[in-house]
Amino acid sequence: MIDIKSVKPLIIAGPCSAETEEQTLATAQALADSGRVNIFRAGVWKPRTKPGMFEGVGIPALPWLVEVKKRTGLPVAVEVANAKHAESALAFGIDMFWIGARTTSNPFSVQEIAEALRGTDVPVLVKNPMNADVELWNGAVERLAKCGVKQLGLIHRGFSGYGSSNYRNTPMWHLALEIKKRLPELPIFCDPSHICGNRENLLEVSQQAADLNFNGLMVESHITPQTAWSDAKQQVTPEALVTLLDSVVWRAEGSDSIAYQTSLDQLRGVIDRLDDEILRLLSKRMEAAEGIGRIKRENNVMILQATRWEQVVERILARSEELGLSPDFLKIVLEAIHIESINKQKQIMQE
Ligand code: PEP
Ligand code: MN
Repeated sequence: MIDIKSVKPLIIAGPCSAETEEQTLATAQALADSGRVNIFRAGVWKPRTKPGMFEGVGIPALPWLVEVKKRTGLPVAVEVANAKHAESALAFGIDMFWIGARTTSNPFSVQEIAEALRGTDVPVLVKNPMNADVELWNGAVERLAKCGVKQLGLIHRGFSGYGSSNYRNTPMWHLALEIKKRLPELPIFCDPSHICGNRENLLEVSQQAADLNFNGLMVESHITPQTAWSDAKQQVTPEALVTLLDSVVWRAEGSDSIAYQTSLDQLRGVIDRLDDEILRLLSKRMEAAEGIGRIKRENNVMILQATRWEQVVERILARSEELGLSPDFLKIVLEAIHIESINKQKQIMQE
């Protein structure tokens, strides 16, 4: 049985869909020959947005995966979306399953899969749901854990939104960090292919995952991506996958080097002192705002002075370049200060 925590970074790669036996075997062979892939993935049941699109070969494709394993020695993984899929995949001895984003969004489907997989030690990776809902993601994991599924993991594949964006599915990295915090024992993998929806940004997203201490990647790779029957735009050749993997830097979680520890401690000391200073100044700033609140009350003037606030923001944003701070960051900080300052003045008014 594969142990998904024993290798880091763990690389799962393969086509979006198993289309033909030839395409599946050729892709798997090239990936195995690269020596860079730990697990071969291929979808045989494809949840498609609209009817009439290629929905996967289904059960007849499972023997192709068995053949992949026999020829290359690579463990094989498929997506399961209902109990029938899970039972069939178990019966064919598939080595790992993942639950797709659309399925994670549906508690009934997750529950029936969990029951079909009761007690298994085959690893199950749970993709985040389509919508930005960490509870639902966590809930799917809980259903599987309650049925005694022994090896669980997470896949971050981004969240769908409306309108145009640089991403097919917005990463919202903070949600991946939130689920990591809640389920620290579970390995988490990033699927840059479904986040990007194209080949061009795979490196940037993969590097971000490496820098956020993900356990590995699931990347779609196809022997001839431009002719793929699903997700053609985002798949890469096995050769391009190697280039991608060569470019991602997996940095260490820490270092024992004395020089590193000394510099780190020194800089952390600087940061702690600066934080104290920032807080002292913020506190003084609020005292001044309270003073203003008192004179407004004495003169029966309302709290919000919109023009004055616009001037404050404008004056500070004009200095953003000189300060080396982004306007977006400054806006968030000023907004937070303004809210607290209004609250203080409100208290004074109500005294
Ligand atoms: C897939 O991995 O091919 C897939 C369908 O992904 P998702 O569930 O993330 O859309
Ligand atoms: Mn896909």
